[in-house]
Amino acid sequence: MTSEGAAPVRTDPDVVVVGGGVAGLFCAYHLRRAGASVTVLERGALGGPQSCSSGNTGFVGTHGAAPLAEPGLRAFRALGMLSADAPFYVKPRADRESLRWLGHFARACTATAAAAGFRTLIELKRRSLDLLLELCEIPSIAATFESPGIVLAFKTAEGFAEASRAVSRTVANGVPLRVLRPGELDELEPKTRFDIYGALYNPEGAYLRVPEFVVAFGRVLREMGVEIREHTEVTGFEISARGVERLHIEHGALPTERGALRTEHGTMRPGDVVLAAGAWSTECARLVGIDLTLQPIKGYSVTVDMPPGGPSRPVLLSEGRMAMVPLGDRLRLGGRLELTGMSTAISARRVRGMLCTAGEYLPDLAGLPTREAWSGLRPCTPDGVPLIGRASPRNVLVAVGYGHIGMGLAPAGGELISRILAGERPAIDPLPLRPGRFTSTIS
Ligand SMILES: Cc1cc2nc3c(=O)[nH]c(=O)nc-3n(C[C@H](O)[C@H](O)[C@H](O)COP(=O)(O)OP(=O)(O)OC[C@H]3O[C@@H](n4cnc5c(N)ncnc54)[C@H](O)[C@@H]3O)c2cc1C
Repeated sequence: MTSEGAAPVRTDPDVVVVGGGVAGLFCAYHLRRAGASVTVLERGALGGPQSCSSGNTGFVGTHGAAPLAEPGLRAFRALGMLSADAPFYVKPRADRESLRWLGHFARACTATAAAAGFRTLIELKRRSLDLLLELCEIPSIAATFESPGIVLAFKTAEGFAEASRAVSRTVANGVPLRVLRPGELDELEPKTRFDIYGALYNPEGAYLRVPEFVVAFGRVLREMGVEIREHTEVTGFEISARGVERLHIEHGALPTERGALRTEHGTMRPGDVVLAAGAWSTECARLVGIDLTLQPIKGYSVTVDMPPGGPSRPVLLSEGRMAMVPLGDRLRLGGRLELTGMSTAISARRVRGMLCTAGEYLPDLAGLPTREAWSGLRPCTPDGVPLIGRASPRNVLVAVGYGHIGMGLAPAGGELISRILAGERPAIDPLPLRPGRFTSTIS
């Protein structure tokens, strides 16, 4: 069906991937490498601002594998989280899904659950870093990847002492974290003035420049033979006892001869479907009868012109729960966690607050004008571990819930999806990632 003329005839692919963020693109990459014909359907433009993969700080590497649900969070931060100025803000809502999510989140705030989550996430991050190092040898992608290490800055004595105590445990888990001796930070960042108590350093800190990485990766995928259809939304599914028979799609933003935009409707009949629609996956999964325990957690990034005293490598402002990353002539700050529903509205107060926090750690950043402010919805599971695997109907798989570290998890997540579909032994233990662990409706 088309509103203006017939749609071109296309051959239905082996696999349709719904969503063109990092989750979907890495599924497409591994599936194509395994020999499948793959089509990615993306509602917006690849690397467009709607995608959480477009405006973030892009940290990959072994840093930051801790789940959001920390031990003690439930007990001493619960009330603070209801304040709109808290780094992790929960807007009180009485809908069934957010309450159910918060219930699971509270249960995940234990030392045992956090340690188990860390083990799974660090395994995914390590494998992802290896895959990224291989991928980023492709010349057209290489310029979007940097690996200069990462500095973890602490403003307070308590914050530094607590983090320093955890260093040996982190090292035992294979992360090369160390305490910086006095003077070492000046050697690493001679141009930058810090007003902090102490710092740690992880030489395995690396980052992707986004959205440049997403756009360059999309180009490589097309060269590999992956079809990527932008401005194409999946609007429904036809299901039989065999599984998903057809997908209904709406292809918008097509220019007509008269310069107006038209919409084309159509269907596709893939062998398998991978849902990788980020924070919108809950809504999309519901159309196939799958109940996902996922909530959007909004974050912001603020990009400023690189000041003369800006850092040359990523810096984590630990107590402020913020990160900063150098992007040539720009510096991007990222952070804030807001459980406030699907809105991506940008609060000027939040943006000001982030610049203020940055100025507390690096005084030369105080009062810089904003070049660009962006917000994105992190697709978060209650325990911080993604949902990756087969669902029911059987020809549907999910690769969702990458939360606050999706850039650093999606490469290995895509590989796992490809192995599951091929019936091969996965490189990563799939059990902790099984999509049905919060519900009884899927396996
Ligand atoms: C401020 C901020 C900073 C961050 N920093 C980091 C970091 O430093 N390191 C890190 O690892 N992670 C970071 N993250 C997290 C990371 O951005 C996410 O985990 C990751 O981008 C999620 O990718 P995704 O592909 O699952 O979702 P998305 O990138 O959101 O992609 C989902 C796509 O699906 C499309 N879609 C939705 N519904 C449909 C439909 N029905 N049909 C077709 N298409 C559809 C959407 O348009 C969207 O483009 C950060 C996030 C934020 C907000």
